[in-house]
Amino acid sequence: MSMQLTIGWLYPKLMSTYGDRGNVICLQRRCQWRDLDVSILALDQESSIASFQEFDLIVGGGAQDRQQEIVMRDLQGEKAQIIKEKLTSGIPGVFTCGSPQLLGKYYEPALGQKIEGLGILDLVTKHPGINVPRCIGNVAFDIVAPTLKADLEEMLGEVPTVVGFENHGGRTYLGDVSPLGKVVSGYGNNGEDGYEGAFYQNAIATYAHGPLLPKNPFLADWLIIKAIEHKYQEKISLNPLDDYLADNGRKAMLKRMLNQ
Ligand code: GLN
Repeated sequence: MSMQLTIGWLYPKLMSTYGDRGNVICLQRRCQWRDLDVSILALDQESSIASFQEFDLIVGGGAQDRQQEIVMRDLQGEKAQIIKEKLTSGIPGVFTCGSPQLLGKYYEPALGQKIEGLGILDLVTKHPGINVPRCIGNVAFDIVAPTLKADLEEMLGEVPTVVGFENHGGRTYLGDVSPLGKVVSGYGNNGEDGYEGAFYQNAIATYAHGPLLPKNPFLADWLIIKAIEHKYQEKISLNPLDDYLADNGRKAMLKRMLNQ
């Protein structure tokens, strides 16, 4: 039986800064290279409530404050409830920069009113104002979320340091949610507490663009495995792919960051 995955893509036109659409392409290609039947489903203002029920894996990219606010307002209510239920049930997701901010309790922009978040992740984000420098640059972090760390150890025999690029004004502070990682180089959530991102059930939330998945393809495979295992309720492993270029790029970037 050929296995099928539907990847939900949140607001492709409004949320795709810094090449974040690369995460969707990476997941799609890595499924196709394993002969998995994959389809991409745009989830946005035009989508029906019912189509929000259809994804097996969900991807959200970054956005500027204005676009982010439009998305946050559109998602409130039933759409948010569906995403919450699906993530809570263990459906995997990857959310970058602006999307984790909107999954949190609220976002305080530099200008204008505080915006209600979806309340799926116990975190808050505050923008300190347009005169305070943004958190910009390459970022590297070690994964600390216990279940993800254990899964990667089992999959790869090691837990690679993740690399990416961050550019955010908002500073995120975690409540009762696990951090995704501990910063090795860069700012991470707020440049103060050393945490990077958040991890909830099987959802990765991070400030790392890159895009994240092409630079760290082991995370793409972990997401695909989780999506299939959740949908088909059976344990699987994926045929390995030649990730020589990505691995070497990741290591070279890390070396350069640590030598700075
Ligand atoms: N609007 C958010 C901020 O500046 C997110 C930016 C982004 O997604 N790159 O903090």
